[in-house]
Amino acid sequence: GMISVIIHEVGHNFFPMIVNSDERQWGWMDEGLDTFMQYIAEQEFGEKFPDVIAPNTKYPSRRGDPAKIVPYMSGDQSALSPIMSNPENVYSLGPNAYGKPATALNILRETVMGRELFDHAFKTYAQRWKFKHPTPEDFFRTMEDASAVDLDWYWRSWFYTTDYVDIGVDDVKKYHVSAKPGQEMRDFMTARNLTEADLPPLVYLVAEDSEDFDPETKGKTPSEVSMNLKEFMMDNMTEAERAEVKEPNFFYEITFNKPGGIPMPLIVEYTYADGSTEMITYPPEIWRKNDDQVKRVISSQQELVGIVVDPKAETADIDVTNNSWPKKEQKTGFDQFKEKIKGK
Ligand SMILES: [Zn+2]
Repeated sequence: GMISVIIHEVGHNFFPMIVNSDERQWGWMDEGLDTFMQYIAEQEFGEKFPDVIAPNTKYPSRRGDPAKIVPYMSGDQSALSPIMSNPENVYSLGPNAYGKPATALNILRETVMGRELFDHAFKTYAQRWKFKHPTPEDFFRTMEDASAVDLDWYWRSWFYTTDYVDIGVDDVKKYHVSAKPGQEMRDFMTARNLTEADLPPLVYLVAEDSEDFDPETKGKTPSEVSMNLKEFMMDNMTEAERAEVKEPNFFYEITFNKPGGIPMPLIVEYTYADGSTEMITYPPEIWRKNDDQVKRVISSQQELVGIVVDPKAETADIDVTNNSWPKKEQKTGFDQFKEKIKGK
């Protein structure tokens, strides 16, 4: 506690004493930036002096960790104000001017921009505006022009609204390569009075939950199932080239949805039948054309057995019940209580 307060008050030498923003108008410009720097200093302190913070494994910062701001941001909307509010007009100044901006900058640094780019832009702001009177726009613009990253969406959602982050996995469709065209393709051909002979050789996909799916083909490679593909490979590739091809056995179309208002990078951990995992981060621009849901197609040699969105809880997602596929069973408090007294 005392160490935290000392770090915080020393930080005020820089914000607002040197970078002289107007605390009466924009409380977050010194308290938020200072709380953010306090978080970084505390975490570095914890890494440097693990004995001092034991038994904790990381410094127990009061503010800054994404998970810490979830109760505030998921709270009653009628009691929330945007960060961009005069400090005298907000309901709870602590989370509004300290915790939320500190968390927003922490997420921007760790998850959106990366430390190197963020730190360069943040230092440029401090250098450019020392002994001057910056307004919020000066901060937002410097962070953007020093990094060359369009952050309008980030400032808008985190600083000008009371939206929250909620991203989930909504649906997973499984597809397999098929020797014969599926229903959709047959309808396409009928409508145009075409037969397979009229078309160039094609490789067909059918959904696992459709009548066209032949369970015998599950787990087989596409060239084992599709003669067209086999012939194409024989005609166009050398034996050495064919030997190098890693054919996927499984195809998936995954729908992710975004009930929350704030766009975020889509961080996904895929787990396969052999226990291996793959982490893919899709940039926040993935939401640019559709703010409600996006689909990704992936192929793999192993069967996909699990999907988790934001597995390390780095985006302040307020509802994690929709973050997993297959859906994790949600036990009620009563069930948990029953298990506890039964000693299960
Ligand atoms: Zn302060």
